[in-house]
Amino acid sequence: MKRRVFLNVLAITLVAFVACQTITLIVLYRYVTEQRREELRSELQYFGEVVETYGGDFLSKLSLQNDADGAIRLTLVDETGAVLFDSAKQPESLNNHKERQEIKQAFERGYGESTRVSDTLRRHTYNYAILLKTGEVLRISGSQYTMFSLVLSMFSPMIVVLSCVVLLAIYLANRISRSITGPINAIDLESPDARSIYPELRPLAERINEQNRQLHRQVMELKNEHERQDRLRREFTANVSHELKTPLTSISGYAEILSAGLVKEEDIPRFANKILDESNRLRALVSDILRLSQLDEGGLTKPWEKVSLSDLCGRTLERLAVAARTRGIVPVFERDDETEAYDIWGDSGILEEIIYNLCDNAIKYNVENGGLTVRLAKEDEHVCLTVSDTGIGIPREAQERVFERFYRVDKSHSKEVGGTGLGLSIVKHGVAYHHGTIRMQSEEGKGTSITLCFPGCDGLPEEKA
Ligand code: ADP
Repeated sequence: MKRRVFLNVLAITLVAFVACQTITLIVLYRYVTEQRREELRSELQYFGEVVETYGGDFLSKLSLQNDADGAIRLTLVDETGAVLFDSAKQPESLNNHKERQEIKQAFERGYGESTRVSDTLRRHTYNYAILLKTGEVLRISGSQYTMFSLVLSMFSPMIVVLSCVVLLAIYLANRISRSITGPINAIDLESPDARSIYPELRPLAERINEQNRQLHRQVMELKNEHERQDRLRREFTANVSHELKTPLTSISGYAEILSAGLVKEEDIPRFANKILDESNRLRALVSDILRLSQLDEGGLTKPWEKVSLSDLCGRTLERLAVAARTRGIVPVFERDDETEAYDIWGDSGILEEIIYNLCDNAIKYNVENGGLTVRLAKEDEHVCLTVSDTGIGIPREAQERVFERFYRVDKSHSKEVGGTGLGLSIVKHGVAYHHGTIRMQSEEGKGTSITLCFPGCDGLPEEKA
């Protein structure tokens, strides 16, 4: 950057200098030329009056310099074009002037003029002529340097001046480029001090500061998120160990009593049932943990397919029919359109598990002979599934937390009904996996209603997350 600034400043200085020189030269040259011509014209007027008053012979008495700068030459010509007087040469040695441009014009219109350039292009000669009252024509000639010879004559001093200007420009360009780039290079990117740099750089320093603050915020957010994830993982591991240990302890306890022969013959089936129950709990827990870790770590590889939520709901309600009947619950399945399949793109296994968990909860946490409604509807481009019950409801403060792993409102009740505390976590992750949303409405003692909305599958198949 320093090099670029240096070269630019140098180029600008040189171009400005040359442009100024040229313009000054042109303006001055034009001014001097005009002055010279004006001078010649007024001198012609003056000499014309002299000849008219005192006659042509009077001119020979004048001493006119012919060779110096600013010199003039006077020529008097009669009606025939013969030269009567010439201040530079003998009249006899000069040929007839009748056809000379300025003299011809003067005879015709009373005034004439012409300009001639010397063969070497070094001088201009201006000729002005007027017709006198005597019938003769008086001509005045004066020469001046041409622009070309002026430039030639100024060449040497101009080279000297230009060299000085180049040196000065190099010095200035160096100083300016250093004064521009120096503060930029000196900026401390960690915390630029806006007061120690020139005003034009302050917005940059402020932006860097703002960016640093933003970066710091993001790093802190990432750190917090990382810590949160770490805490959740530790909690989860502790919870998993605890949850696995409980049924295992029961199983090994019952098995120990049985193998020690401490159980009466008629109590053996009861003990065997206990072991079976705990084993089932263990199996449910392990399969929920596996499912969650699959959803968490992107371990699902099954390609998505068109899934009819209507079919999945029907199938799930059938699977839960016995459990519902046991509690005196008669599930109601409602659809806005009975003929509609309510298709979405997704993983049918996970979607079935989601619906199963919601319906299972609606039975487990319901009251005897309570209501359970599963409803399918379309909302804009979405397919929405609502599972509502008239059960015990969820306290307001627990409504967010029920989606956390192993969170239960009433732990003993959950265990009693065979819950693992992972059902709604699977729902939450499964819905997110299908780009869906969850809404929950619940009132203690009145019931719970959970609505899931998924993008409908009109149009092209959805890409997997
Ligand atoms: P669980 O296996 O214990 O049912 P979930 O994750 O499915 O675990 O549910 C978490 C907790 O949320 C449950 O323990 C229960 O307290 C509460 N809950 C879930 N669904 C309902 C519901 N429909 N009615 C009342 N409480 C519910």
